[in-house]
Amino acid sequence: MVATPIGNLGDISIRATKILSCVQVIAAEDTRHTRILLNHLGIHQPRMIPLHEHNEAHQVLKVLRLLQSGEEVALVSDAGTPLISDPGYRLVCETRRHNLPVSVIPGPSAVTAALSVSGLGTDRFVFEGFLPARAAARHSRLQALSSETRTQVFFESPRRICNTIDDMVSIFGPERPLALCRELTKRFETVLRGSAAEILTILLNDSDQCRGEMVLVVGGSDQAVVRTHIDEERLLDLLAGVLTPRVASEVAARLTGGRKNDYYARMLQRTRTIKDNE
Ligand code: SAM
Repeated sequence: MVATPIGNLGDISIRATKILSCVQVIAAEDTRHTRILLNHLGIHQPRMIPLHEHNEAHQVLKVLRLLQSGEEVALVSDAGTPLISDPGYRLVCETRRHNLPVSVIPGPSAVTAALSVSGLGTDRFVFEGFLPARAAARHSRLQALSSETRTQVFFESPRRICNTIDDMVSIFGPERPLALCRELTKRFETVLRGSAAEILTILLNDSDQCRGEMVLVVGGSDQAVVRTHIDEERLLDLLAGVLTPRVASEVAARLTGGRKNDYYARMLQRTRTIKDNE
C-alpha cells in the first residue's frame, strides 16, 4: 500500500519512490493519472494494471495470482493513502486471507493534512468520509452527529459544499467552528476558519472559495447531550401501528440517526413474520 502526494509531487517519500521503481507491477486506480507521477519520478514503462472501485473484485484475483507467483505489487490510488475513501479494501482482506504479506509505505492523506492545519482539536477525531448526496440522508447523518464531541473530518465536493454547510448551520448551529481546507499542498491552498455561519457567508459571496478539492473539519459539540436509550423494536412496534412502513422507517431514522432503508427492510420483515404467524 503506497501513499502518494495529494497535490504537490514533491511530497512523495524516498521510500515510496524506491518501492515504485522496484516492484514488478503497479496496481493503480487510474493508470493515466499515476503515469504522470511516475514520469516525474523518472520511472518509465512500468508494468501497470488498473484497480478501481468498478473492477476491484475481479482485479484482486489477478493481483493474488501475481503475488502467489512471487511478484511484488504496489497499490496506489490517484492521490493520498489507498483505502481512505479509495479502492484497496478487498485487496488487503484477500491478501491477508491468503496469508500473503501486506505492508504500508505511509505518506500524505487529505485527512491528516486538513486536521493538522485546521486549528481544531486533534486529540480525538472521527473521519466521516463523504456525506450522502441526497438531502434527506445527509440530514439524518448530520442529526446523528450533532452531539458528537470529537472533531469530525468530512470529504466534500465543490458542488455540495454550500448545501452541506447550510445544513450544518441548521443542525449543528451557526456558531459551530469549522475549517474548510481547500487545494492543500497546491497553488491555491486555502484554509478558511470560522463559525459555520461565517464560512457559509464567505462561500455565498465568493464562488472561487467553492472550487477545487476540499476537506471540511468540524469542531466537536461542546454540549454534552445525555442520549435517551431507544428500544428500536418497541419503537418499530409503535410506529407500525399508526404509520405506513415507508413513513414509519423515515420517522425511526430521524429519531435514531440510523438508516431509513434498514428500518424499511425491518418493517417489511415484521409484516411478513406477522402474516406467516396468522
Ligand atoms: N485517499 C485520499 C487521501 O488519503 O487523501 C482521499 C481520496 S478521496 C476519493 C478524494 C477526496 O479527498 C477529495 O474529494 C477531497 O475531499 C479530498 N482531497 C484530496 N486531495 C485534496 C487536497 N489536495 N486538498 C483538499 N482535499 C483533498
